[in-house]
Amino acid sequence: MKITDLRATTVTMPLEAPLRHSNGAHWGRFVRTIVEIETDEGLTGLGEMGGGGQSAEAAIAGLKPYLLGHDPLQFEQLRWKIMNPVGSLYNNRTQLHAAIEFACMDVAGKKLGIRACDFLGGAIREEIPFASYIFYRYRDPDTGLGGETTPDEIVAQARDLAARYGFRSHKLKGGVFAPDHDVEVFRALGAAFPKDGIRLDPNSAWSVEESIRVGKAIEDLNNDYFEDPCWGLEGMRRLRRSVNIPTATNTVVINFEQLAACIRLEAIDVILLDTTFWGGLRQAHKAGQVLETFQMSACVHSSGELGIQLATMLHLGAALPNLNFAADAHYHHLADDVIKGGKMQYVDGGIALPKGPGLGVELDRDKLAEYAELYRELGGYAYDRDPGRPDWYAVMPERNYADPAAGADMPLGVPRRRSN
Ligand code: MG
Repeated sequence: MKITDLRATTVTMPLEAPLRHSNGAHWGRFVRTIVEIETDEGLTGLGEMGGGGQSAEAAIAGLKPYLLGHDPLQFEQLRWKIMNPVGSLYNNRTQLHAAIEFACMDVAGKKLGIRACDFLGGAIREEIPFASYIFYRYRDPDTGLGGETTPDEIVAQARDLAARYGFRSHKLKGGVFAPDHDVEVFRALGAAFPKDGIRLDPNSAWSVEESIRVGKAIEDLNNDYFEDPCWGLEGMRRLRRSVNIPTATNTVVINFEQLAACIRLEAIDVILLDTTFWGGLRQAHKAGQVLETFQMSACVHSSGELGIQLATMLHLGAALPNLNFAADAHYHHLADDVIKGGKMQYVDGGIALPKGPGLGVELDRDKLAEYAELYRELGGYAYDRDPGRPDWYAVMPERNYADPAAGADMPLGVPRRRSN
């Protein structure tokens, strides 16, 4: 089998409400790039990548000289062609490689009648558990959804998500307001769900000292782990010596050199593996195997997926023996999806591994066209800007936090879901 063509389509997917984080916000939508490869056997493979627009589409098209004629089954050759660890020093194609590898694994699975996880050794679970992903949200003026700032409002969001989807782990995205506000909100979550695991992730917003102070203030709760309160391998290593909670990262260990240093320094306990940031399913799984060797836990990271990327997360989660914590997903915040059959369903806090060959999801071409049009209508948004504070930049550490008393209405006139 040989690749004969590839194409990329940027789409915009509305969220139920804008999601706030320590560096800015998702402005009521995600922008993603859907990648398709075609083969001489008439089979098509699907991939997905974060971001989009002309530069992303051009970057995918620019890989044609590397990929036309390539056999999708040759995964290791693909890695060296696109993501050569020496050559990629200058071209940083890790995420492009991931999107292409997903599509190759999808089409190779379809040819052989096996699932993507079978290329990783097969599934050891058919249901992947997920944590709720709770955000401070701006209130969407069209839907009235969102607008959570206070402990009561965040607990209400968590209860709503648990009732709708069955989550038994709860993750708070902190770092928007001052650390003591997060402590108050997180302790309210712990009190509301005393039997469930909880986890706090302020996206590296705090200094090491502030992280230690917050860690001590939440140490008595039923913490899954304390995720990236501060930045850097050395910062996280210092934190770990002073706080009696397992620590976790998805930011400072995203390649094998960092993983080796992390293990040698005994810097962090749990590594959240992202199928895109690590450069594909095989790389993320390989990292999981290294962690297993050192009896360290893996988890599955979410970088804002639609159904194709979610499928890669399910196949990774199915094949990782040391998935000792419920996976992360932004997925329940999406209003819709581009895959046939609509959004995948949560049952008892988990999502079933797809049964079909390859990634096990198919593209709904009407939805692809609809959300490609929405991207053309609304354009991109700056992930690292806050629409409620247009002159604000994250200056870290010890930043100028948002004011909870300022309200949580999304400013009018900011393109978010529809232009109407
Ligand atoms: Mg994180």
